[in-house]
Amino acid sequence: MNDTHPVIAAIELLRQLLDVEHLPYDQAWYVVTNTFAYTNHTVLPEALEKWSVNMIQNLLPRHMDLIFFINHLFMEEIGRKYPGNGLKKQILSMIEGDGDDKKVRMANVAIVCSHHVNGVAALHSQILKDSVFRDFYELFPHKFLNMTNGVTPRRWLYCCNPGLSKLISETIGNDDDWITDMRMVEEIIASARDKKFVAKFLAVKNDCKRQLQQYVKKTQGIDIRIDAMYDVMVKRIHEYKRQLMNILYVIHRYLEILKTPEAQRDAKFVPRVVLIGGKAAPGYKDAKGFIKLINSVGQVVNNDRSIHDLLKVVFLKNYCVSNAQIIIPAADLSQHISTAGTEASGTSNMKFIMNGSLIIGTMDGANVEIAEEVGKDNMFIFGANVNEINQYRGLSDDARKGKIDGRLHEVFKTIYDNKFPVNDEIKSYIGRIHSG
Ligand SMILES: *Cc1c(COP(=O)(O)O)cnc(C)c1O
Repeated sequence: MNDTHPVIAAIELLRQLLDVEHLPYDQAWYVVTNTFAYTNHTVLPEALEKWSVNMIQNLLPRHMDLIFFINHLFMEEIGRKYPGNGLKKQILSMIEGDGDDKKVRMANVAIVCSHHVNGVAALHSQILKDSVFRDFYELFPHKFLNMTNGVTPRRWLYCCNPGLSKLISETIGNDDDWITDMRMVEEIIASARDKKFVAKFLAVKNDCKRQLQQYVKKTQGIDIRIDAMYDVMVKRIHEYKRQLMNILYVIHRYLEILKTPEAQRDAKFVPRVVLIGGKAAPGYKDAKGFIKLINSVGQVVNNDRSIHDLLKVVFLKNYCVSNAQIIIPAADLSQHISTAGTEASGTSNMKFIMNGSLIIGTMDGANVEIAEEVGKDNMFIFGANVNEINQYRGLSDDARKGKIDGRLHEVFKTIYDNKFPVNDEIKSYIGRIHSG
């Protein structure tokens, strides 16, 4: 079961086996729990679904009866295991609330009905055992395992980057066996300091950047230079992924350029094109606000002749897998800066690293395993780790406010002063994070 969305399937199989096939209950339950496994994809409460008991009763009354029944048996088991411990029953129950507010905790149904439960990166699976599903882990330690996400090298390297694929094949032995055995690509380390190889790699990267440059010109009418660093952040727009922090940094960089006398700017700053793309869920106002802010910063920065194209900001329209195949191979640097503990795995980190982009990332999700694999010297590790984040969460509002850096105050001020036109909602959002 891929997240909690299809969990009703387990109850439906139980119904089929009992009501249609007339199996005895124990056999039916045996088949159900040996059929299903549950993959959790996020620790954010928004994805741990709670379905209203009233709704299920109206639409699927038999399924609701069966959930009550399996929960009843489960609660009896908990009673035997933890006699007199009412709190355990409250935490582990598939049902919460009373009366019209009664809800089914679909994740609890999923765990009880499954033979295995997994997270999607080592750190995420550990967090499931330590906090989100701690009491279930204590009860069913044998059920919990890790299965780190992956992406297919066929699409995300071979198909989207033929230039790099050809270079890999000719460098490690002129055939394409590595496409189904990525371990083979390790052999390329031997060429990492070979000047000829490096020149070829840079030529491939340049071709990819030219394709993205043409794509941006054609689809959005914006000119970006080839000789700039392409700094890319493409993923769904969300607070935990921190596109807002990225754009606040971009404002800071713009202010630093402006503070430098115009004649010295070209010598001091590496030209950078910041490309941010992704969709926001339709009802997610704050995320829509971030998109507005990114576009506003682009409007101002891209039209300021005094900064000599040392900085460009593009919000890429309609981010999807098709244009991801053009965007990702062109990146020099890619951003994976989620608040530690919140990005279950991430998969674009894998796509970027396969295409020879450097990663700036927090110690979160699969970034942790990527850092182990490529070596910490080959990754820009950024920001607080999970333990530090937990310490910050424990601070008072005042203590947290005291930690806001002077440079950040300056950036917030540009937003209050309408330097980048945004609506009042975004300003009030910024006001809320600014005041701790
Ligand atoms: C890979 C991919 C994602 C996942 O990106 P993350 O940075 O891991 O969140 C999202 N959308 C599209 C179109 C992708 O190709």
